Amino acid sequence: MINLISDTITKPSPEMLDFMMKAEVGDDVFGEDPTINALQEKAAELFGKEAALFCPSGTMTNQIAIKTHTQPLDEMICDHYSHVYQYETGGFAFNSGISVSLIQGQNGKISAEQVKGAIKDDFDWLPRTKLVVLENTCNKGGGSYYTLDEIAPIQKLCKEQNLSLHLDGARLFNALVETGESTKEVGSHFDSISICLSKGLGAPVGSLLLGEKDFIKQAKRFRKVMGGGMRQAGYLAAAGLYALDNNIDRLKVDNDRAKKIGIHLGQQDYVERVLPVKSNIVIFDLKKGLMASPVLALLKEEGIIASAFGPSTIRFVFHLDIDEKMVAVLSEKLKTIGKSIFKELASN
Ligand SMILES: *Cc1c(COP(=O)(O)O)cnc(C)c1O
Repeated sequence: MINLISDTITKPSPEMLDFMMKAEVGDDVFGEDPTINALQEKAAELFGKEAALFCPSGTMTNQIAIKTHTQPLDEMICDHYSHVYQYETGGFAFNSGISVSLIQGQNGKISAEQVKGAIKDDFDWLPRTKLVVLENTCNKGGGSYYTLDEIAPIQKLCKEQNLSLHLDGARLFNALVETGESTKEVGSHFDSISICLSKGLGAPVGSLLLGEKDFIKQAKRFRKVMGGGMRQAGYLAAAGLYALDNNIDRLKVDNDRAKKIGIHLGQQDYVERVLPVKSNIVIFDLKKGLMASPVLALLKEEGIIASAFGPSTIRFVFHLDIDEKMVAVLSEKLKTIGKSIFKELASN
């Protein structure tokens, strides 16, 4: 099977598993798991932050960040495609009691000007603007990414307006292998950063929240109340350490494969439009009249699994369990499947 559903489906390699099995562990609720402590210190150091917090998921690191940055009746600003708005079960309202001001950005990316326009005046009948959340890369935006040049004006505005700035960096490293920017530079642009170890980096579980000492101290309380205080989770943190040491640079391979397949898809007569491919995600619209579900069924018969991202939209995500041979097969099948797709359409 060529599984392009998500980069979350990767399984630990034998080398990663071996490294996990050898981890030294302890009770992390007491702060006594040496492997978790090592991972947190390594990540904090990498981004030039004072501290980090290991959590079970990226949803939790984002939710904790929102909770730590805001009070009930506050408001956050983000793009309408954002994971924190679309895919976290409305947790910003449930966990933090805040509202949201949505911006229609460019493929998931928002500008300082747009943020400025969304900041609310200080009236007691309005929610208080407190937080801006950026997503990099932006999943629903087709894997688009910000450069630090684009982020700097947003950071400046947030400072002037006394707003916190959080980065949902679930796939941040997929952006950094493109821009060549350093993690420390990224760290200096945000108050808090969330990164996922279980996406393209290939760990089975785990995300990290990064910030300054006081912020992470408070975040740890929220992790506990959300039920995210784990015990001998050093086995999982070991996978994260292995991922940071071994799996960052190779993300460029995933990005390049996605770009190649994006170009290839653009040449197929059943494809209307491919969103600009910037990293490891390819989102494409089918020609008018074609629906995603029968096309996905045809792909599945050919051993290719992907997901619908709208009624006539399909998403492919490239990751470390896809190899060069699979890319060649995929490329060929995407060409030959055209005939079956139009036959399907004619018979319906
Ligand atoms: C995957 C993802 C997350 C976190 O997802 P979890 O499945 O909860 O780990 C957060 N933001 C973005 C943009 C993501 O793609």
